[in-house]
Amino acid sequence: MQGRMMQHPLLISSMIEHAARYHGDTAIISKNTDGTITQTDWTHITENSKRFANALQSLGLVQGDRIATIAWNNHRHLESWYAISGSGLICHTINPRLFPEQLVFIINDAQDRVVLFDKTFLPLIRAVKAHTPTVEHFVYLGAFDQDVADAVPDVKFYDALIAEHSAQYQWPALDENTASSLCYTSGTTGNPKGALYSHRSTVLHTYAICLPDSLNLSANDIMLPVVPMFHVNAWGTPYAAAMVGCTFVLPGPGLDGASLVQMIDDYKVSIALGVPTIWQGLLAAAKQTGSPLNSLKRNVVGGSACPPAMMKAFRDVYDCETIHAWGMTEMSPLGTGNQLKAKHQQLSAEEQFKVRLSQGRPPFGVDLRITDEENGTNEVCRDGHSTGNLQVRGHWIIESYYGKSDHALTTDGWFDTGDIASINEDGYLLLSDRAKDLIKSGGEWISSVELENIAMNHPEIAMAAVIAADHPKWDERPVVIAIKQQGSTITEQDLLDYYADKIAKWQIPDKVVFVESIPLTGTGKMLKRDLREQYGKILLTE
Ligand code: ADP
Repeated sequence: MQGRMMQHPLLISSMIEHAARYHGDTAIISKNTDGTITQTDWTHITENSKRFANALQSLGLVQGDRIATIAWNNHRHLESWYAISGSGLICHTINPRLFPEQLVFIINDAQDRVVLFDKTFLPLIRAVKAHTPTVEHFVYLGAFDQDVADAVPDVKFYDALIAEHSAQYQWPALDENTASSLCYTSGTTGNPKGALYSHRSTVLHTYAICLPDSLNLSANDIMLPVVPMFHVNAWGTPYAAAMVGCTFVLPGPGLDGASLVQMIDDYKVSIALGVPTIWQGLLAAAKQTGSPLNSLKRNVVGGSACPPAMMKAFRDVYDCETIHAWGMTEMSPLGTGNQLKAKHQQLSAEEQFKVRLSQGRPPFGVDLRITDEENGTNEVCRDGHSTGNLQVRGHWIIESYYGKSDHALTTDGWFDTGDIASINEDGYLLLSDRAKDLIKSGGEWISSVELENIAMNHPEIAMAAVIAADHPKWDERPVVIAIKQQGSTITEQDLLDYYADKIAKWQIPDKVVFVESIPLTGTGKMLKRDLREQYGKILLTE
């Protein structure tokens, strides 16, 4: 017998309609590319997204066409997102920090018909324009601008387009499995590959990230996504904000610590999300200005492992609870988030802190397992010690890459993440490394993440990356590449001594190289591949 309930498809347009109808006057604050602030609300965001949906239709676009965006987190970008996906087109967010050749590759691979862009990225548009034959329209996300008009002939202006079109628009009743958005992996190995999300996967992912054991979002929150909309859809926050109807604070290009402190203080932000390097900048700026970050109750750290020292600083100095989360582009991205269970409530503060350091446990909708080989199917014990290849399956996890015919899954239907991890009896995930960053010394594995965390816990170290360097006897040995805190006189031996009582002797790094800066990927992670190229032979030459 069938259930007798409505078949109501899970659609992205329903989320913006909900926000407009039930949270219409809730504020959206947006920093523009020129530094000015626009204050709007869910009613106006929705109206403009409908105007832009009409504009897109007038350009002759049809369901399934790809519309690229190269833009900061701002209100026009948000409106265009809902217009694109809501009307059945595919919103393809592009990371502007990629090299122009990668950008050209991605636009051509996706066969984008339209590209929307912010003023910051005008030079990029000029550089790639001649090499992207599928793009028929460039739309500047702003009012008429002579520089833009001169640089990009036939460019269209977003503000003029929405002024010309009506706010009356009926969102189409799409099949919920229709593709909604496209996001390329950052391609640290080989060419970037596209993860193509659906309306259904997006809505289910949104429900999951709002849950109390995930981000614990509600209409009372004032949320600041520092993570860019081009980094796995700002981890889904533009959808979650509409689903719960919270205030949304969009930081535009101001991702430096000082701008973020001001944004948090000015708009009383209660929850902010970003990668560890962002928080490093924020903590330094808050210390400098003396801001107590009073309103900030939670911060979400993901994308790379959260150094314990950072979590401690948020807890002890700012009374802010850090939620450590793990995920990836292929997972929309949320895989796990760290919140305590009831059984942890009676633990001491320090024991609770230890639990909170791991990447956490999955919400309903994601299942995890650890296997003894890459793409294998043999599961290892969930004992918190046995490490292996982390695999996942669930409602918002990739099945195959965009444009590729083969499945990306194991023979029994799991996606191998390329991460190495263990899972404990309570279901908490502890990542030791990405498979390719593990250090294999004399046949034994050493986790670079653990060694980085120890270095970054040293009060005189600002940032540290640990890489595998080739070694004549042991194959590979760990080498620390570190940035000193300003004014510090720490020596190589001081840092090596610091490891002594914290790990087994054979895991202590062989060498420390102090540098002025560490290269970062487009999404703000330490670029270990480049460091390996530069320092990978350092133990052979000495
Ligand atoms: P890419 O894989 O393209 O660099 P993603 O943003 O999809 O970009 O990155 C996903 C990867 O980032 C994960 O597979 C994992 O290695 C790493 N990662 C994400 N969150 C964490 C975390 N909390 N701790 C450690 N590593 C993380």
